[in-house]
Amino acid sequence: MSVPFIDIKRFESGFLDEWNEKVKSMSAVAQFIGGSEVTELEAELAKWTGTKYALACANGTDAIQIALRAVGVGRGDKVLVPDSTFWATFESVVNVGADPYTIDTNPNDLQMDFSVFKDAIEKVKPKAAIIVHLYGWGSGDIESYRKLCKEKNIPLIEDGAQCFGVKFKGDPIYKDALISTTSFYPAKVLGAAGDGGAVFTNDEEISILARRLANHGRTSHYEHGIVGWNSRLDSLQAAFLRISLKHLSARIDSRRKSQEFFYAELPKLGINVIHPPANYYENGYCNVTLVDPAERPKIEAVLKEKGIGFGNIYPGAMSDQPGAKPHLIERFGKDQNARRIAASVLNFPLFAYMTDGELAEVISAIKLYKK
Ligand SMILES: *Cc1c(COP(=O)(O)O)cnc(C)c1O
Repeated sequence: MSVPFIDIKRFESGFLDEWNEKVKSMSAVAQFIGGSEVTELEAELAKWTGTKYALACANGTDAIQIALRAVGVGRGDKVLVPDSTFWATFESVVNVGADPYTIDTNPNDLQMDFSVFKDAIEKVKPKAAIIVHLYGWGSGDIESYRKLCKEKNIPLIEDGAQCFGVKFKGDPIYKDALISTTSFYPAKVLGAAGDGGAVFTNDEEISILARRLANHGRTSHYEHGIVGWNSRLDSLQAAFLRISLKHLSARIDSRRKSQEFFYAELPKLGINVIHPPANYYENGYCNVTLVDPAERPKIEAVLKEKGIGFGNIYPGAMSDQPGAKPHLIERFGKDQNARRIAASVLNFPLFAYMTDGELAEVISAIKLYKK
């Protein structure tokens, strides 16, 4: 039996009927932009994230760009970003005209390294910083990041594209962020039927500015107070996300159950599986193991032969990307953990409603490699 790396079409029974009905009724009245689906979704997202203001937008990359501009980042500003993340984090800084500085990775939680960050804050004196909550958890130092940035008056943007449903000390991770973002790309924990994203904040002024930026800088329908762009989430996506939210707890429970299985079984096979730091309730976005870089191709060859999907999230550090060259000002962290982790990381399949048979199949493929 083959096992995909991810399968996003295991909808709950009745899900597709409800969605198809929704498409029918919304299409009949041409409800395509804005309207109650979007406003209701935003209210539900605020509740889920424990934040005062939620703004739906076109995708997770736009969400970061909106957040950067909403805290005042523009041309020539310096912004710190993690060296281990998805390229969109880096790209967003460049797209708003700012200059990125990369921060190396903590080898324990695989998130941005706080001591390297602290050092860079002193040397660079950045306008803003981005932290990314990677893999379905976050940094063990998240409180220190927020405290330091507040003290130094450096807005900290939290890229939460992978952490919808994650809790820190019992609360949604987004709750205490100055401003945070997420992505509704279909393969994320809360995925749309296409692209989507959101920005969350507790700050009213930031929320107003963010909303304007995402809607042509509008202060009224034909008055444009600032230059923004079109980053609206369309109504059909909002409707799909609202139906999905009804099932999200069950999906996260299912992902976490599979993750528990891996936590129990992988160490028995000598595989170094990474756990979230203390105080985190993970959402099961991703299974993360670190293997010997020389062994990784051999394990992958067996997985391929057995039809088991796998990932390398992510295969390279941001500062090593060819596209980074013309933009990167400086890379902080002499250990180059980001590069080392990229060469070692191996992700086994993890998604909602994996079957026991599929989980067993993954384990038996690894056993085959061990032989
Ligand atoms: C997916 C992702 C994004 C980008 O989201 P899109 O909706 O695809 O634009 C940004 N940052 C991280 C960490 C992501 O995983």
